[in-house]
Amino acid sequence: DELSNLAVAVRIRPMNSRELAHVGAANVVSVKGNNLYVKSSPIGNSAVCMDHIFQYDHIFWSCDENDSVYSSQEIVYQTLGAPLLKSALKGYNACLFAYGQTGSGKSFSMMGRNEADIESDEYAGIIPRFCKDIFSHIRNLPDNSSATLDVSYFEIYNEKIHDLLLVQDCSSKTALKVREHPMLGPYVENLSIHSVKTYNELRNWMLIGNRNRATAATSMNEKSSRSHSIFTIEISLTEGLDEGVNGNGKRSRISLVDLAGSERLSNSYNSEEKIRQGVCINKSLLTLGKVISSLADQKKKQFVPYRDSVLTWLLRESLGGNSMTTMLATITPANLHVDETLATLRYACQARSIINRARVNENPHE
Ligand code: ADP
Ligand code: MG
Repeated sequence: DELSNLAVAVRIRPMNSRELAHVGAANVVSVKGNNLYVKSSPIGNSAVCMDHIFQYDHIFWSCDENDSVYSSQEIVYQTLGAPLLKSALKGYNACLFAYGQTGSGKSFSMMGRNEADIESDEYAGIIPRFCKDIFSHIRNLPDNSSATLDVSYFEIYNEKIHDLLLVQDCSSKTALKVREHPMLGPYVENLSIHSVKTYNELRNWMLIGNRNRATAATSMNEKSSRSHSIFTIEISLTEGLDEGVNGNGKRSRISLVDLAGSERLSNSYNSEEKIRQGVCINKSLLTLGKVISSLADQKKKQFVPYRDSVLTWLLRESLGGNSMTTMLATITPANLHVDETLATLRYACQARSIINRARVNENPHE
């Protein structure tokens, strides 16, 4: 149980037309079992070739549908999402992050390519599959049990919080604040929370949130790559209703997070405003890394810097204690982006290697 507290997975998407059109385009990523290999050459010296080796809990090769080892959306969900749902139904909190550079496949993995994909058996991502799966579990509950579901969906942009489930989008422009409840911990003040009884109701909120996210992104250039979106479902299970007045309750919160692009400042930021925005995003991603690391190394009882970023402060209850955390790092196999890919793989490895050091003595991963 302890060992599976944090799982790190990597998914490799197909090369896109821009990457293929590039002169000298090549696929530099390969997979053998739990090993992921990356070939890279130092800039200006293509004669020297370095082989990097990384290991993860799961590697999803999604480059070629005709490949026998191809990982579909369903395989990714069954491997990463379904176990989180199972533990949520046992009363654990759970959290899944998609991490990677812009264009590497975070939103594809979490949601799908577009609205139509949400209903597609083939292309629906983790979030819609999760929503469907919850209801198939609830249908199978014993008669004396009942479940209630509450959904919320917000984004963090520039360390500010915006509700994605307000039907009137004029008020969503007001930033919401994080507050700390003495018993329940950090929460978003005035965030709308919606009770749902059916899959259709839940799906409709998901669609409203996605549309609000897309609208906000078009009105502000490149916003989608710089914001974090957090889709949260709270499940309350009551068992043994016929035995006592209240029965026994289990409550859990599952947060499914599509993080901002992880690309570094140097690549894509010029103006002062961009740098300011970039620093904030970096802060959330860096803090997330630190939080995961210190949680993983619990034997040292070190300070966990939750409050250093809005993202980690809010997810404190999901990340710590009785929660299961999964990180899905997404990458492209194209040589064009090999530096960014190596940065993503190292970030993902760091979280995992610290876990291993705390529990089993294993080899370093690179
Ligand atoms: P991100 O959210 O990380 O910026 P996207 O999920 O939007 O990236 O993916 C960028 C593009 O690549 C999209 O057109 C998407 O459909 C495509 N894509 C991403 N991952 C896959 C995959 N595993 N298989 C096929 N296409 C993918
Ligand atoms: Mg995206």
